[in-house]
Amino acid sequence: MKIIADTHCHTVASVHAYSTILENIKSAKSKSLWAIAITDHNGNVPGAPGSWYFDNLKILPKEIEGVKILRGMEANVLGSSGHVDVPELKFELDWIIASIHEVTWNGSHGIEECTNAWLAVAENPLINVVGHSGVPGFEYDFEKVIPVFKKNSKLVEINASSFEVRFGSRVNCEKIAECCKKYRVPVIVNSDSHICEHVGRFDGAVELLESIGFPEDLVVNSSIERFEDYIRKNTTFFD
Ligand SMILES: [Zn+2]
Ligand SMILES: [Zn+2]
Repeated sequence: MKIIADTHCHTVASVHAYSTILENIKSAKSKSLWAIAITDHNGNVPGAPGSWYFDNLKILPKEIEGVKILRGMEANVLGSSGHVDVPELKFELDWIIASIHEVTWNGSHGIEECTNAWLAVAENPLINVVGHSGVPGFEYDFEKVIPVFKKNSKLVEINASSFEVRFGSRVNCEKIAECCKKYRVPVIVNSDSHICEHVGRFDGAVELLESIGFPEDLVVNSSIERFEDYIRKNTTFFD
């Protein structure tokens, strides 16, 4: 399976990431990616940039060196209410990932709380991607929630970094992928790179999908046609 876009990449603006936008783009180009999304952290993640940074992403061209660039953000699901900390911006971002990060989550995170949170995220029109939802300690009722993601055109992320930095993720990620396969829910494969060398590094995620015979036609970024169709229908990128 070939992946043509990496829609979860961090830059120096996240502070705990170490490459610039241009370095990420050059890396994407060297790997023949069609598109990249720049998705730095928002909110109370330590060092995250404020709304001035995200508002000014409007100056970023939609294409550099032949690579399409989605101007995005990785926002935080703050607790069981499912509230996501997307700030009011003057500029409409192309791409928003909602993820649970322990550092910005409030309250307990049993299955019921996390299920309620993701059900609310599913109904949030601002969100494109459900980020690394296999994170251990924040399990949810996959059977109940994943079909609702599909109903609301949310893409379920299979995050290649999870296998290396979120210890114990694989078992959850496999259950999530199996559930997506069962209900024919589209997924997106991302690197979640924090340094340019990791842009376009999808190995663990692709291996997981192939190991369970996941249908390629449900991997939104496994063809330009499929990915372009998604962004045409669900974002303002081509407006
Ligand atoms: Zn994250
Ligand atoms: Zn990330």
